Amino acid sequence: MSYDISAVRADFPILSREVYKRPLVYLDNSATTQKPRQVVDAMTEEYYNVNANVHRGVHFLSQQATELHEQSRETVRRFLNARSSSEIIFTRGTTESINLVASCFAKGCMQAGDEVIVSELEHHSNIVSWQLQEARQGIKLRVIPITDDGELRLDEYEKLFNEHTRIVSIAHVSNVMGTVNPVEEVIRIAHEHGVPVLVDGAQSTPHFEVDVQRLDCDFFAFSGHKIYGPTGVGVLYGKEEWLEKLPPYMGGGEMIKNVSFERTTFNELPFKFEAGTPDYVATTGLARALDYVTTLGMDNIFQHEQALTRYALEQMQEIEGMRFIGNPKHRDAVISFLVGDIHHLDMGTLLDRLGIAVRTGHHCAEPLMHRMGVQGTVRASFGLYNTMEEVDILVAGIKRVAQMF
Ligand code: PLP
Repeated sequence: MSYDISAVRADFPILSREVYKRPLVYLDNSATTQKPRQVVDAMTEEYYNVNANVHRGVHFLSQQATELHEQSRETVRRFLNARSSSEIIFTRGTTESINLVASCFAKGCMQAGDEVIVSELEHHSNIVSWQLQEARQGIKLRVIPITDDGELRLDEYEKLFNEHTRIVSIAHVSNVMGTVNPVEEVIRIAHEHGVPVLVDGAQSTPHFEVDVQRLDCDFFAFSGHKIYGPTGVGVLYGKEEWLEKLPPYMGGGEMIKNVSFERTTFNELPFKFEAGTPDYVATTGLARALDYVTTLGMDNIFQHEQALTRYALEQMQEIEGMRFIGNPKHRDAVISFLVGDIHHLDMGTLLDRLGIAVRTGHHCAEPLMHRMGVQGTVRASFGLYNTMEEVDILVAGIKRVAQMF
């Protein structure tokens, strides 16, 4: 253990609360993570002592708020190892980041009949955003199939490229099975065909180090709330050359240089894509969250969560009737399962009464559910503050529920 788990847990007040008179065991980290004091305190401090709209004011508070906001952008740049902070666009989250790329890329770089490659294990946000463009612009979706273990079929992926392929949009990590996709390989192959790649990093950034220059991805999206930061803020990284090419997403204040009824010119990057007042307090919270995980060490977090996941898999496979959905070789801290013919909703509801928070359902990945032949799963997902004792409580809880059926 490379960090003091008790000290870490003490940073998250919610972890010491009880539900149904039992200690909370929070295993729904893929949906959202809890927030450390450092994040909430920084946001409270800003609301109480700094608050003013950014970028527009000459007065002291506005300048201070702008400085904090732009420092946060620099913190994100460092976290992703982007070349320049003008490649960091603040959005409301992964969903908005993907929609921004889908909308602007389809408008600026695609014509009817052009194709985007996605995969069978995508979250709805990386399917529907493109389907909207399918309806509006006549573009087409091509889908990389997966194996029964829940891994990408790279052999089939290569076959999807043709003269109409314009972009690949792919999850870094599956939010259902934890599959860590070989995105380096996916990107390399796409680039051989002269095609850019958007990586959905919603489920990778909280768990291991991401270096966008090393990956060589063209776009990268993630959400603040999944990495111990506030809700309502996220990031789109884009290579400058691509962001320059794309038309703006929304119109409004901040994204313009000059406006007249005859001709409006747009602001430089990254502001061209940031219409309106940003959630500048949330960007401060996000920066403190990134500081938090960086101080603990992404490698330490990775080792800790991998140990938890390995232990959980070992213990869970001893349970009679246990069926894991997906069995990827490279798995992040996520386990989807079903036991016998117990409905996922029943399992989730009964675990909840034992104080254990897991997620049930299709996890915003209905095409993946169809592929795996299930209607839904129970999903346990780990975060940096979870413990082996909590895994034991989960395993005992599943056994207890199974005995009731
Ligand atoms: N992509 C993946 C893989 C996800 O797991 C999620 C959320 O669960 C999203 C995208 C959407 O993230 P958000 O709701 O924060 O925009």
